[in-house]
Formats: sequence, structure tokens, C-alpha cells
Amino acid sequence: MSRVFNFSAGPSTLPLPVLDKVNEELIDYNNSGMSVLELSHRSFEFEEIINACEMLLRDIMNIPSNYRVLFLQGGASSQFSMVPLNLFSTYKRALYVDTGTWSDKAISEAKKYGNVEIIASSKDKKYNYIPRFNLTDFETNVDYFHITTNNTIEGTVYDYIPETNGYPLVADMSSDILSKHYDVSKFGLIYAGAQKNLGPAGLTVVIINEELIGNELEICPTMLSYKTHSKANSLYNTPPTFSIYVTKLVLEWIKSLGGIPEIEKMNLKKANNFYTYLDNSNLFSSPIQKEFRSLMNIPFTTENEDMDKEFLSLANNLGFKNLEGHRSVGGLRASIYNAMPIEGVNDLIQLMSDFENKTLGR
Ligand SMILES: *Cc1c(COP(=O)(O)O)cnc(C)c1O
Repeated sequence: MSRVFNFSAGPSTLPLPVLDKVNEELIDYNNSGMSVLELSHRSFEFEEIINACEMLLRDIMNIPSNYRVLFLQGGASSQFSMVPLNLFSTYKRALYVDTGTWSDKAISEAKKYGNVEIIASSKDKKYNYIPRFNLTDFETNVDYFHITTNNTIEGTVYDYIPETNGYPLVADMSSDILSKHYDVSKFGLIYAGAQKNLGPAGLTVVIINEELIGNELEICPTMLSYKTHSKANSLYNTPPTFSIYVTKLVLEWIKSLGGIPEIEKMNLKKANNFYTYLDNSNLFSSPIQKEFRSLMNIPFTTENEDMDKEFLSLANNLGFKNLEGHRSVGGLRASIYNAMPIEGVNDLIQLMSDFENKTLGR
């Protein structure tokens, strides 16, 4: 068996111990004589899995007891509509910060159900920073305030949590949930597609303050109502059972490493190594302003399209996969989520450095 270093933005690399465990248990889960893939979502075995998954997430993220944890489908993209459908309860108005492709999509969707004000945007500089804003410029009452904590495509991350004057703060945390410490109590609602940092595709996790449940718009479909899933403990209909099972294993892996404090240290080290190299390189550079650089998604470029392609092809041949930048921004991008080992990052840096020496020497 040979494994490559997979720098994909999502679905992305999973921890090898987790894949080994899945492999070991795949055909006969816990002496049930059945695969997890075959277990009823109403079975005792599966109830144990989903409960353990929730408990682990609560423990690792220190989720307060007045928050519900929901295991849903539809991806983070479905949350772009679920959030306004459920939270436009009083003013039908929300504030959004525009920090890239995903927040832009969230904004377009919310506009279908109410008024959206873009309180700040970094579009003027190709989204290479996180904009500041003044809440007092927007005195109208709003139902919530939406941010995208980590911008997967552009490679930026908030260096602070915005103060929202008591409006519930809603965060798309798809690409940096569990990458570093977040104080859940500062948010009204957090959502994340699992396939970046939590587990496999198919599962979407929502962490929501109980107060925000139960005031959905009349037109809100039953399946898109947080109340539906909260009342049924995420078993209203068939949940993505296998993804929940693998996510539980990922959470066990995180816990075994020492939880978020240790994970955050590892992520800082990986990202620091990468940015230090980029900032000292005479060939590669980062387009992102220093204070806002993502620990998870690192765009970089030689600023020469042909040379980027030459490096991409060299890297690909040597087992460094999926380093192309998102099709909307071009260049190169390394996604180095929790499960990317530091060897993957250091070996990539070495490869870039060798390529740089060869290129500049010729
Ligand atoms: C990947 C991603 C999405 C889209 O997720 P899906 O699960 O594919 O719908 C939304 N927001 C962010 C920040 C992402 O990284």
C-alpha cells in the first residue's frame, strides 16, 4: 500500500489510524455481524455511535449545555438557506460580511428570504484580507450577523471574533472547525460541512443556541427546520450514518492527541513553516496579508502561470496531490487540515525549495 500527501481542499485527507479502524471494523461492526454501512439508524449500535459522536464534539469544543448539536445532510451550502429560513424571525434582516466565494453564496441565498446588508467586504483587494467594520454605521435591527471564519478558496481567516451588540453571530466554520480554539458561547450558530476537518462528505454539523430554534418562517420546509431535527435528536429521517461513524473516529483521534490545544499547536507549526518559507522564497509567494493568513488553506504562486503548472505537474508526479488553486482564483493552494501530517508540509516545502533553486539557477 502506498499513500500520497493529499492537499485537497475537500473531501480531504483523513487520519490514517481512522482509516485503519474503519477497515478493521468494516465488515463486522462490534460483533454485530453487520457493517456500519448496514446498521439501521434506529438500532442500539447506531444510537451509541451518534450519541458518542455528539458527546465527543461537546467535550472537544467545550459546547455549553444550552446549545444543540445537529447532524444533518445537504452540506454547508444548504445552511446558506437554512440559516435565513430559521433565523429571519423578527426583522427579516441580517448583516453579512463578504470575505469570498462562500460568503458571497451565503449572501445570495439569504437575499431570497429577507433583507441582507453587507456590512463590509474585502472584494476590492481580491479578498486577500478580512475587512474591519463599524457596527454603529448599521443601526437597523437585525436577526443575526453572518461571517465565514475561514475562507477556504482565498486562504484568509478572522484574527478576532466580531462584537455584534447582542445580535446572534452565525459562522460558516466549514474549513476551520476544530483547527484552533473557538469560544462557542460567542456564537449563536456554527455550521460546517464535515469533509474538510471533521470527517467524510455527507455530514453537516450545526451547533445552535436553543434560543434560536423554533421561530422559522412559515414557508420553511420541514426538513430545513432546526426544530424538526432538534426534537428528533437528528433522527427525524435517515441521517448520514457512515459519515457520522467516521467523524466519531476522527473525534476520538483528536482527543487521543490531546484535543484542540495540541491540534492548534501542530497547525501553527505546520502553517508557520509554510509561510516562513514563502516569505523568504525568491520564487513563491503568498498573496494574503500577514494578519489574516489561514492555518488551513494556503494559496501560493510563482506569479507565472506556466511555472505554476510546471511545479504542479512535478509535485503531482512525486505524490503531492491536489495542489492546484481553486478554478476561480488560479495559482496553487495547499490545504493542510488537521489530518495532514507535518512531514507532508515539510516535504512539500523541501520540494518547493529544490524547484526554486533549480529554476533560479538555470
Ligand atoms: C466547502 C465549503 C462550503 C461548501 O460546502 P458543501 O458541504 O460542499 O456545501 C461552504 N463554506 C465553506 C467555508 C467551505 O469551505
